[in-house]
Amino acid sequence: MKFIPDRLKKGVIYVSYEYNTVIHLCACGCGNKVVTPITPIQWSYSYNGESISLSPSIGNWNFDCKSHYWVRDSQFVWAENWSEDKISKVQQNEQKEIIDFFEEKSERKEDGFITKIFKYLKMIN
Ligand SMILES: [Zn+2]
Repeated sequence: MKFIPDRLKKGVIYVSYEYNTVIHLCACGCGNKVVTPITPIQWSYSYNGESISLSPSIGNWNFDCKSHYWVRDSQFVWAENWSEDKISKVQQNEQKEIIDFFEEKSERKEDGFITKIFKYLKMIN
């Protein structure tokens, strides 16, 4: 799906190739819009022609519901709730990783070899 409509339907996962983004409404039904950017260090999705899976899990720590789940074969699969402590640690790490990634990316634009190694290292971690 190319365009993301203004109004999202419950239980539908919207994929924008144009913006490298996947959007859906929170699985708990709270109505919050969950935006997952598709980048080498954030989310990735796989599509098998029928259903879509997202990785890693979706943690809606910024919402009141704080729901945590996976998107597997176009289904929401509930994951365990995390403690406040774990959430804040993970958030800090993610933030740092994202900043590092984009700084690195803007510093070296045409660097096929190093980028490939970087991606490879990410995959085996
Ligand atoms: Zn929710």
